Amino acid sequence: MECINGLRDEIRDCLHEECGVFGVYNNNDELDVSRLTYYGLYSIQHRGQESCGIAVEDEDVIRCYKQMGLVCDVFNEERLASLKGQVAIGHVRYSTAGASNVLNAQPITVNYRDGMMALAHNGNLVNSEELRYKMGSGGSVFVAGNDTEIIVKILSKNLVSEATIEDAVKQTMRVLKGSYAIVLLLQGKLIGFRDPLGIRPLCLGKLKHSYILSSESCAFSVMGAELIRDVNPGEIVIIDDDGTRSVQTPTPGHSAYCIFEHVYFARPDSYIDGASVYRARENAGRMLAKEYPVDADLVIGAPDSALTAAIGYARESGIPYGHGLMRNRYVGRTFIQPTQEMRDAAVHMKFSALRNEIEGKRLVLVDDSIVRGTTTRVVVQMLKEAGAKEVHMRISSPPVMFPCHYGIDTATASQLIASRLSVEEICQMVGADSLRYLSLESLLKAPGIDGGFCSACFSGNYMVKNNE
Ligand code: SF4
Repeated sequence: MECINGLRDEIRDCLHEECGVFGVYNNNDELDVSRLTYYGLYSIQHRGQESCGIAVEDEDVIRCYKQMGLVCDVFNEERLASLKGQVAIGHVRYSTAGASNVLNAQPITVNYRDGMMALAHNGNLVNSEELRYKMGSGGSVFVAGNDTEIIVKILSKNLVSEATIEDAVKQTMRVLKGSYAIVLLLQGKLIGFRDPLGIRPLCLGKLKHSYILSSESCAFSVMGAELIRDVNPGEIVIIDDDGTRSVQTPTPGHSAYCIFEHVYFARPDSYIDGASVYRARENAGRMLAKEYPVDADLVIGAPDSALTAAIGYARESGIPYGHGLMRNRYVGRTFIQPTQEMRDAAVHMKFSALRNEIEGKRLVLVDDSIVRGTTTRVVVQMLKEAGAKEVHMRISSPPVMFPCHYGIDTATASQLIASRLSVEEICQMVGADSLRYLSLESLLKAPGIDGGFCSACFSGNYMVKNNE
């Protein structure tokens, strides 16, 4: 179920992507890099809505502006005009590690021995405490509470001790454990690197002679750029006047792409690790229909994130697809926080049932996930009050039972309803006539690619642990 933005953590009922990164290197194309970064961040705004920032390098000087708020609120013509240069990076953030304030907004800029650098990170380190302790014992001072500051400090040190930028980045990657997709602005170069398992996405695009890095390829179409390829797990891509150069660091030989990018987080018009997100969702819906058919009159999806899976379910089952729920697109960051007792009101503000379409019908309601179940319960009740005869819930992923340690803000294990209740109990709690989840085996096949996936939030099988 799509997030109701702006709700306090204790009543929020969704998974949250933590961040998105973007970078552009202008290679003699007379591009306005800050404006392109603005457009890029706008396109990946769904990956983080709390703060955003853009850093631009021009003749060894890095200028950065970052603030709490949406990209469209933080940047205007004047701000973008003050950020002129040849290379830019940008970031959108939703906080989990580190407080929600501008100190933790990114990109982070620092002075190191030979100049300035700016860095933006999507992901989460599982050994951040250990690294912070080690660096702190060596005299490093931390002002923000996030992992990115740790990465920047380690990199600054390695830039002094190592002979080349590549070696400094490699050395840094050697000690980081967890997930990271990073864009770095350093010595006039745009550099991107991705953790050895490729948990968080990062891709490379081209616009005329210039190159772009982005968390998602959906950012390329707005500027007429083309997707070249994904940055490989463990790869460092260095972009400068000579074009792109790649350095491959050691990997375990298998990937652990986040399967939830395909289920929910990424935009359906993105391609991630060679797979169309739209197609993956449609396939998941088709597989769900094969695994759990039901006699019904209409298939509807939970807007907007589950609509594609619902289309897949309808196509496979032959049951007509229609709209049964509308989403209020204007419920966002400015939403006045409802009290605990009034959280149902937040769901009613966000969703409403289309009585004409559903009255007297047996519905299949397809959703991508159930986190706490509180939103689902209100939505099922809403559909029944609007005249639905039956509501059969079909979920296009397995039960979310474990928290994510790799950059997604899940609830704690005890708040995840599937870690406490059986499927039958959840069905009763949400008031549905039946409830079925897609099997993990099918979900992992849905993107249609060979790569290995992380599925720890479903299976509890964490591929990177701090003690490894
Ligand atoms: S635990 Fe789940 S949400 Fe986190 S990276 Fe793995 S698949 Fe993605």
